Amino acid sequence: MPRSTLARARRLVVKVGTGTLTDAAGRFDRENCARLAGELAALAGRRRVVLVSSGAVALGAERLGLARPRGRPWDIATKQACAAVGQPHLMNAWGEALGRHGRTVAQVLLTAEDLASRRRFLNARRTFQQLLERGVVPVVNENDTVAVEEIKVGDNDTLAALVAGCVEADLVAMLTDVDGLYDRPPGAPGAQLVHEVARVTAEVERMAGGAGSERSTGGMATKVKAARRLAAQGVATVLLSGRRPGALHDLLSGARLGTVFAPSAERLSGREGWLSAAARGRGTILVDAGARRAIAEQGRSLLPSGVRGAEGSFGVGDPVEIAVDPARPFARGLAGYAADDVRRLAGKKSSQIEATLGFRYADEIVHRNDLVLLDEPGYKDPEE
Ligand code: GLU
Repeated sequence: MPRSTLARARRLVVKVGTGTLTDAAGRFDRENCARLAGELAALAGRRRVVLVSSGAVALGAERLGLARPRGRPWDIATKQACAAVGQPHLMNAWGEALGRHGRTVAQVLLTAEDLASRRRFLNARRTFQQLLERGVVPVVNENDTVAVEEIKVGDNDTLAALVAGCVEADLVAMLTDVDGLYDRPPGAPGAQLVHEVARVTAEVERMAGGAGSERSTGGMATKVKAARRLAAQGVATVLLSGRRPGALHDLLSGARLGTVFAPSAERLSGREGWLSAAARGRGTILVDAGARRAIAEQGRSLLPSGVRGAEGSFGVGDPVEIAVDPARPFARGLAGYAADDVRRLAGKKSSQIEATLGFRYADEIVHRNDLVLLDEPGYKDPEE
């Protein structure tokens, strides 16, 4: 992907990690926040900018006088309390810093569950639209108070990818404490910065290694995973140093900085974008390899004949995952039939639907227009 295309990005999600906003001792780094605010305000002139900012937990811990945990991490409730204390201070810091450049900020707190609901997703989208039209910079964070395990996004790299789907961004810039993705651990002898990633393969995921450092939640692994999801939604991602003055501006002017992950599909929008980015399946429809090929390679709908079964309970119109191997869904769509009916229709011909159920909505279990393909690197078709 030519870097010059980045200059055309009009809607940006900029994710700033805790490592970029705190110093080596874990204290909030006002200087870096102020510098970044100046750069973001300059960008927000010609482009729409949404900021996803971490730092609430770190700021809260600072206020509460809690030392950074060594070895065993804080439990969830402690982190939630820190986030609740730190969030207003985080907003204050951005509000003041961006305010110096004439920009107003808005606080947007979200959870994965919010965005998985189509109705709430649309409400959030409307709010974002209004804010951006008014030149406001939305500052997004996870609503940590209510975000316990099953409903939380967990890390702001993933949150940035969800937000990108919600605001239909064309570029997500993740500012972090390294210059980008290295082909082996940065600092290891001979480690090279990877400038472009055309596709997130298993090898790229290996380069990203495991979880984060003391000061970052997800490390490289969640960034690369988010970049992979974004690529499938047609969105480019760049990993950049959050400490290098002018990095974002230079990148958008074509400089060879950071790591750029190219989009692998056309930009999804509307319902497809939501299905791909935010929706969570309420169950899984299991299909055979032939149905997978028809859907993934020939752009067909899912018919009863290719269905092997269904897991979970979902109703008509609910999002469902579609998979050969339930651990690795390859598509997500809106169910045309409820879970119990899908189970009864498994392996039948479309012409048998009425005789089997006593009614028939349509020939398809999931119609093509209600379906998006998910990215699944490394899938091996057993029949190929
Ligand atoms: N929501 C957390 C915070 O504001 C950050 C999560 C993350 O950095 O990924 O501190």
